[in-house]
Amino acid sequence: MKSIASSITETLKREGIDIDKQIEVDCVKCGEPAGSVAQGFQHSIHCQKCVDKYEHDRRIEDTKAWWTKFCPALYRETDLNHPDFKRIYPMVKRYDDYRQNLIFCGSSGTCKTRAMMHRMKLALIAGRSGRSMGRRSG
Ligand SMILES: [Zn+2]
Repeated sequence: MKSIASSITETLKREGIDIDKQIEVDCVKCGEPAGSVAQGFQHSIHCQKCVDKYEHDRRIEDTKAWWTKFCPALYRETDLNHPDFKRIYPMVKRYDDYRQNLIFCGSSGTCKTRAMMHRMKLALIAGRSGRSMGRRSG
């Protein structure tokens, strides 16, 4: 019984494609040199720069989608000059290492959620991921 790999190789050879032959190709997106690939695969090759841009753009879109789902509309844009925010945010800002977990405790209506959402937005912009435990109100 033939393996799937040998069956594919035989099919490609019948089509005049020698997968053992490497050919230099240009990126199908930007036209810049993309390196060498096995003959037959040159029509789907992207250069590293285009791959990196695609991954970056995808991460940004995934993060935006996550943020929109995670952060209630009320907290997406915060008035950084609001007196309550100006009072609480300097305490939050001291923890500028986004890998550090923070716990916000305090009375309802004291801007904890806004401060946390703002910090999380900055962390996302900096390339971190985020999550929250507990209630998302107040
Ligand atoms: Zn490219």
